[in-house]
Amino acid sequence: MRYLIPALLSLSALTVAPALHAALAKPSPILTTPDALDTQTYARPQVARVTHVDLDLAADFDAKVMRGKATLDILALRGAREIVLDDKGLVIEKITDARGKALTWTVGASDETKGAPLTVQLGTARKIVIHYSSKPDASALGWLPPSLTAGKQKPFLYSQGQAIENRSWVPTQDSPGIRQTWSASITVPEGFVAVMSGERLTPQGEVVAGGKRRFRFSMPHPVPPYLIAIAIGDLAFKPLGPRSGVYAEPETLARVAPELDDTERMIDAAEKLYGPYRWGRFDMLVLPPSFPYGGMENPTLTFLTPTIFTGDKANVDVVAHELAHSWSGNLVTNATWPDGWLNEGFTTYFENRIDEIVYGTERAAVLADISWDELQRDLKLSKPSATKLRVDPGEEAGELAYNKGATFLRTIERAVGRERWDAYLRSYFDRHAFQPQTTAGFLADLRKNLIKGDAALEAQLLPDRWVYEPGLPGNAVHVKSQTLAQVDLAMERVKSGAPAASLGFEKWGTQEWQRFLNGLPRELPAERLADLDSAMKLSTSSNAYVRSAWLVLAIGNRYQPAIASAEEFLPRVGRNLLIRPVYRALVAQGNWGKPIAERIFAGARGNYHPVTVSAIERVLNPAA
Ligand SMILES: [Zn+2]
Repeated sequence: MRYLIPALLSLSALTVAPALHAALAKPSPILTTPDALDTQTYARPQVARVTHVDLDLAADFDAKVMRGKATLDILALRGAREIVLDDKGLVIEKITDARGKALTWTVGASDETKGAPLTVQLGTARKIVIHYSSKPDASALGWLPPSLTAGKQKPFLYSQGQAIENRSWVPTQDSPGIRQTWSASITVPEGFVAVMSGERLTPQGEVVAGGKRRFRFSMPHPVPPYLIAIAIGDLAFKPLGPRSGVYAEPETLARVAPELDDTERMIDAAEKLYGPYRWGRFDMLVLPPSFPYGGMENPTLTFLTPTIFTGDKANVDVVAHELAHSWSGNLVTNATWPDGWLNEGFTTYFENRIDEIVYGTERAAVLADISWDELQRDLKLSKPSATKLRVDPGEEAGELAYNKGATFLRTIERAVGRERWDAYLRSYFDRHAFQPQTTAGFLADLRKNLIKGDAALEAQLLPDRWVYEPGLPGNAVHVKSQTLAQVDLAMERVKSGAPAASLGFEKWGTQEWQRFLNGLPRELPAERLADLDSAMKLSTSSNAYVRSAWLVLAIGNRYQPAIASAEEFLPRVGRNLLIRPVYRALVAQGNWGKPIAERIFAGARGNYHPVTVSAIERVLNPAA
């Protein structure tokens, strides 16, 4: 069942609204076990917590700021006098109660990544209004000039909230364990469309003073605040099916829509596996190329990089991934970021099950086999402590969490059989729907509802080893693909000197190329690289996955002719997964490569989202 909070009521009947929210939506629980303590928030939700955020903001593209007010509904202990929010560089004008009476507030010492605590003296107020604007360099917001869009006429704004960036434009308690409902009214200049990750109440917008347009949104389900997302630009929409469609710039829409035409089948497959899709619509937004990720699972509106559109549907597993997050991540959410594998590992497993239903066993095997390759690579690259699924606080759950987590779930599936595993996983999502979850909480649930005291099964699964210890347990299941075994043969032929033109690569898709380019010997002579490049057109490939893997190989051999390709590629694409390895490869070449990396980055950083800028800065200056 879905329900709708009338947005106008919460604006016009301020005193009635808290009771209304209380009646409609019971606040989602806060976990209080020590492992659920989020060290990346300043909030103290057991004392006072935000239950609803209402945003009334206008986008100012000239100043690159969002400006207006946020009205927060607060649930607090009887007698609690203050609430602590997260604030990363917000410019606050004033804070009042619902009647407009000024409240005192202070901003504490600021930390570069966490931002600062914003403490508001509530008195008896349980609704507060924060008048503020974001800063032009707000870390969640990518303000793109027209030159970085497909249409080249209008600027573009999009947000990326995960993990702790939304506190740079939304004053709230920015922790995945503190779920909140939200609503928003967003005013944009004439000719722009605003979309958000909730129900779009006014898809065309309403004309307001000065020819501007206002768009209203509502998210009636409690969500972790990192899932509040916005984009504003010259956007058009194309329906894909009864509950799905795609937004993109008009110049992009016709090209990308056909590659997304399996979306409804994916939703049906996901529901068949693990229960109803609870978010209403599943629309997608294709962003300009600076978007830092492959996709972001913003509810009702997945954000997608344009790099997945290679004309052959070879990368729509990203869509399956973001859709799967509608269960693992958005419905059942990691309570803290060190539990990130509960979002990403579950999703990487689930996505592959969707792929299998929609595209068949061999296609799923190709993707799982590539995921195994990535896992092996990450096990080698990561320090041991970072290869635990549940990383220590302060440690970053990286890409390894995706593939090791998925392999763990696949290993359980093989041990207990699909029928029993699927029944368990479906019931798990139902039991914990709209709630945060910790690693210990999942293990307790697994033992109670699947293992059920079966000592032999416990010994076979090794759950604690998988989750709390580094490396890969010996029971890990590796899915092997026949398609990629053929690519391995081509790789062997390269090693024995066969010319590249004879390898039969003409029908390869993204995954075959990844297997091939990542599997070749890391050291190759320049003549060999030149032969591969000229036969396979690697330096000019329009497939960004191919280009990235090729550049890593070529740069690792200081293959000078590839530098022009890197100079063209890196400033144009902002997706971390594809450009960070190339920067890393350059930096690894010391005096030869690092100056090249620095030069390219100096020219490219203005094209990147702040998330990408800081990721690349860390590659260039690991100590900083
Ligand atoms: Zn994900």
